Amino acid sequence: MSVKVIKAYGVTGKWHLKSKVVPKGFSAITFGSHVYYKGENPSRRIIKHEHTHIKQYEKHGLFGFWFKYTWQWVKNGFSYKKIELEQEARNSENESSAS
Ligand SMILES: [Zn+2]
Repeated sequence: MSVKVIKAYGVTGKWHLKSKVVPKGFSAITFGSHVYYKGENPSRRIIKHEHTHIKQYEKHGLFGFWFKYTWQWVKNGFSYKKIELEQEARNSENESSAS
């Protein structure tokens, strides 16, 4: 499934500190088709990672995505790195842009 909608929000300075949209230790977070970045020019790697999450949202739906995400986090001993949805996103970071 292709990515239909992407809205990128540069999250910088005071606004970010106030909003806490992007959690500490994360460089970006995706809600549905909306990607929130720290900084104005996210790296290609981060964009690819978040695009994969957008595809996952399109596949599973908003509720389905978070249900799966939370379940995978719990069953893997609360390990963020072992969440399968995250592993898929990380694997996509190094794919060529031609794909
Ligand atoms: Zn991720």
